[in-house]
Amino acid sequence: MSAGLLRTVAEVRAAVAKARSEGRTIGCVPTMGALHDGHGSLIDRAVEAGHFTVVTVFVNPLQFRPGEDLDRYPRTLDDDLAMCAGEGVRSVFAPSAAEMYPGGKPGVTVDPGPMGQVFEGTFRPGFFGGVLTVVLKLFNLIRPDVAVFGEKDAQQLTLVRRMVRDVDLDIAVESVPTVRDADGLATSSRNGYLSVADRATALALPRALDAGRARSGEGAAKVLAAAQQVLRAEPALAVDYVAVVDPGTFTPVPAGQAGPAVIVAAATAGGTRLIDNVPVVLGADP
Ligand code: AMP
Repeated sequence: MSAGLLRTVAEVRAAVAKARSEGRTIGCVPTMGALHDGHGSLIDRAVEAGHFTVVTVFVNPLQFRPGEDLDRYPRTLDDDLAMCAGEGVRSVFAPSAAEMYPGGKPGVTVDPGPMGQVFEGTFRPGFFGGVLTVVLKLFNLIRPDVAVFGEKDAQQLTLVRRMVRDVDLDIAVESVPTVRDADGLATSSRNGYLSVADRATALALPRALDAGRARSGEGAAKVLAAAQQVLRAEPALAVDYVAVVDPGTFTPVPAGQAGPAVIVAAATAGGTRLIDNVPVVLGADP
């Protein structure tokens, strides 16, 4: 069986309406394609819960700035369809940009608010506005009961949850832990850009996060210092940021605040920009 390829808004709406008429609940897994094991674990979550699962594959131009990798982003639709079929997915929605944005760039978009201006938002202005706009459009087209996102993109996940809450969408957002290759690097469609040497450099990112997490139970400053120390030892890695943040707000954790936090980091190895994060539980030390 190959997964059914849906190219148009009319086709995806019809597929979902049919599933609903059969009493199915609807799950949605938004992706940009070039599917890997990380996407696979999101798909598994939706399929295993029994939802009629729509995987979307759309390289969203709205979230790329000029000079970013929109044109060279990997597009592997045949492989994506085969992987989805193997996971038991019947519907893959892979629209063209013209199908998603028939009037060109939309005039009305989602404003991600202050949380969209920090960390990734600082280094990629407009990125989260583009992400949330396409996610909201996909939610409106598919009307899922459940949407599944990866913890790999922690700030994006928090913003999607925030949007769902702030504009009263009736959708349960579920998250799946980051999937990593055996060497520790988080799987990513962009990892294919890395040479062998770049990949060795990039591994300092998960190593740094691990070093921070190893200080669980201590305060944010010590956790951060442990991660920074590892990053400093790899000068070929150009670090954009590393920080210990509150997972609900993406603001840096103040000294003395105990409890769950996330160590977030972004860095470039050989021209390829990577982001990663790990959860940590802080102690009350300063
Ligand atoms: P992307 O295709 O990169 O836009 O990612 C689509 C979805 O897959 C997002 O919810 C990502 O957070 C999630 N995802 C990407 N990589 C991973 C990974 N290594 N582990 C878990 N989820 C991931």
